Amino acid sequence: MNYNLKNKIILITGASKGIGKSISTKLAQNGAKVVLLSRSIEELKKVHEELKSAGLQSVYKQTDVSNIDDLKCAVDYTIETWGTIDGIVNNAGITEDNLIVRMKPDSFDKVIDINLKGAFNGIKSVSKIMIKNNYGRIINISSVIGHIGNKGQSNYAASKAGIIGLTKSAAKELAKKNITVNAVAPGYIETDMTKKLNNLNKEQLLNSIPLNRLGSPDDIASIICFLLSDQANYITGQTINVDGGMVMH
Ligand code: NAP
Repeated sequence: MNYNLKNKIILITGASKGIGKSISTKLAQNGAKVVLLSRSIEELKKVHEELKSAGLQSVYKQTDVSNIDDLKCAVDYTIETWGTIDGIVNNAGITEDNLIVRMKPDSFDKVIDINLKGAFNGIKSVSKIMIKNNYGRIINISSVIGHIGNKGQSNYAASKAGIIGLTKSAAKELAKKNITVNAVAPGYIETDMTKKLNNLNKEQLLNSIPLNRLGSPDDIASIICFLLSDQANYITGQTINVDGGMVMH
């Protein structure tokens, strides 16, 4: 399905690979002008070149989402380049797994700083221009683990459950300015993040997924295009599960 995102200016964090790269590509294919953000400038440049050679519009800026000044610079750069901002996808995320008894407190802080505070920083940085425009679309990436928890992922699960509360609060605060805020909670998606699973874990995992397969980054990109399109104008404060049926409320 094609969504009309023509000339919508959308920031994507964690755009250098995996789900973020797929989201950026699909948004651009649907007409958006995408702003690619992550820490590794070389990887961003590669994505930008790929999009450019397909005739798609993008710019890129080195950004660490845990640093609000970086995000403010990315917002200023976007406004200087393209004049405004219509949406942001707060997708950047990491795992640093360990059992609680072994996990260093720094490891807990790091995952929260990038996954949860990074999304807060993203929302805060774009809010001013969106409020001025009386229009905006914000999407945060949560995870199935934020709903169900996981051994060895207390930091990650806390960050992704936090995203759901952050999304609802921001949705309530910004609704009167015609800004919608939603979350997408992927299940297990084939990216570098899930490459670490060994065969035994993979088999157990597949048994817990009703659709009996891992998802692809494209499965996530599709729902993001929908949520950023005018077809989703009346949806806010929601967490959409895209997980092959792992979580059913
Ligand atoms: P990935 O392949 O490891 O990619 C992570 C992306 O985040 C990279 O572009 C990375 O780029 C960026 N990033 C990491 N730290 C950053 C920081 N401090 N500032 C800016 N960018 C940063 O992971 P993925 O699987 O695509 O995951 C994307 C999102 O989906 C994450 O939020 C993840 O938690 C969520 N998710 C994934 C799955 C899954 O199964 N894969 C499931 C549920 C949720 P740089 O290294 O260049 O900064």
